Amino acid sequence: MNSTTIAAISTAQGAGGIGVIRISGDDAIFIADKVFKGINGKSLCEYNGYSAGFGYIYDGGEKLDEAVALVFRAPHSYTGENVVELSCHGGVYITGQVLRAVLNAGAIPAAAGEFTKRAFLNGKLDLTEAEAVMNIISAQSKTAARAALSCKEGSLSKKIDAISSCLIDIAAHISAWVDFPEEDVPEVEDEKLLAAFEAAKSDLNALISGYDAGRAVTQGIDTLIIGKPNVGKSTLMNLLSGCEKSIVTDVPGTTRDIIEETVLVGNVILRLSDTAGLRKTENIVEKIGVERTKQRLERCGLIIAVFDGSLPIDSEDISLLEKIGDIPAIAVVNKSDKGRLTELDDIKKYIPNVVELSAKSGDGLTSLVENVEKICGTGNFNPSQPLVANERQLLQVKNAASSVDDCISALRDGFGLDAVSVALQDAVDCLLGITGKKASDAVIDTVFETFCVGK
Ligand code: GDP
Repeated sequence: MNSTTIAAISTAQGAGGIGVIRISGDDAIFIADKVFKGINGKSLCEYNGYSAGFGYIYDGGEKLDEAVALVFRAPHSYTGENVVELSCHGGVYITGQVLRAVLNAGAIPAAAGEFTKRAFLNGKLDLTEAEAVMNIISAQSKTAARAALSCKEGSLSKKIDAISSCLIDIAAHISAWVDFPEEDVPEVEDEKLLAAFEAAKSDLNALISGYDAGRAVTQGIDTLIIGKPNVGKSTLMNLLSGCEKSIVTDVPGTTRDIIEETVLVGNVILRLSDTAGLRKTENIVEKIGVERTKQRLERCGLIIAVFDGSLPIDSEDISLLEKIGDIPAIAVVNKSDKGRLTELDDIKKYIPNVVELSAKSGDGLTSLVENVEKICGTGNFNPSQPLVANERQLLQVKNAASSVDDCISALRDGFGLDAVSVALQDAVDCLLGITGKKASDAVIDTVFETFCVGK
């Protein structure tokens, strides 16, 4: 199939040593050759794949920059098409000029994620692997990067393929047994079917239950630090972020708005918000802060509730504890360096995970890290395991699990093999949708729309 030739700046926009303009499509080498003049006098059209040449980029008669041209020939490239990558100096202006020259020479601007979309359409990677590319780019920790790389290398695809091939084999067997009774097809045995469905269900449930831990490690958790004024919320936030972010003072109510910071606690990424507290106030600015804290409370995934351990729990602390409800929470009994008057049991009634520490000295931080990992289920997290990476994949895995459940019910309740086949087909469709082997154009477009231009 003929492909148009697209081009975009693939490196980040900013001053850098090198900027890469990527060109992909049938005419990529021909177009690049129009703007690139190698010092060896050779046309890029004479280059083999995986070869590079040094020279200059021209826009018409105007010399723009020095560059290295790297030639890939289809199908041996990222997209599976002819690709040329022009590496010039990494300035915003100069990369823009080189891109302009390439577009003037006949390429069209690439849409967001179009290189990776072409790689997907050309069978270079499946949908989960394509999504992993974005996760590698946006990874904020070593574990997140490892998990994304493992997915890019097919850990989730392989698991999904294994489950779906097993279900497809069963579907084929049922259909042969039902459609060709006169042939010598082995009998479909309910017990064997049930065992296979139960195994598929258990594999799918394992993927579903690993999702939250995976998300904590790869995407992070919205975490709210709450507590009365002056208990040490800002100091704790500074301890966790390793730098001064909030204004720390002895005057109650100093943190008037929500201050945000992304930190790595153990292997968990916490998107921390240090809040204005939740106390009743007549101060108009503080009131707005308190209101925002309440809204955040409804949406957050984890609460770190801070108490001044050198004081007994009071009614304001209790009213705060009562607001936590079902949200996963850790109680930090702070100022352990001053001695403790707080009764831990008063807090444990509301929050079972209680950590004593000194935000000022850092003593007890390890225990907080352990509690965060425990509550997020990431203590034994293995980034190489198959991991559901986003809501799209999770929904499909859940739908597949529910269809497998329908297969089990249909079999147990004696609805016959036709009913089993229908549910089985639904399960297979969901699984093929995850890897993109069977996905609508709309789904594919939605996946790649979230990518950046140049990827
Ligand atoms: P916030 O209003 O809850 O954000 O409290 P801050 O972080 O502003 O802290 C209030 C006061 O408590 C400041 O003087 C801090 O230095 C002090 N403080 C915070 N944490 C500790 C701690 O662990 N030990 C001691 N001794 N003082 C602390």
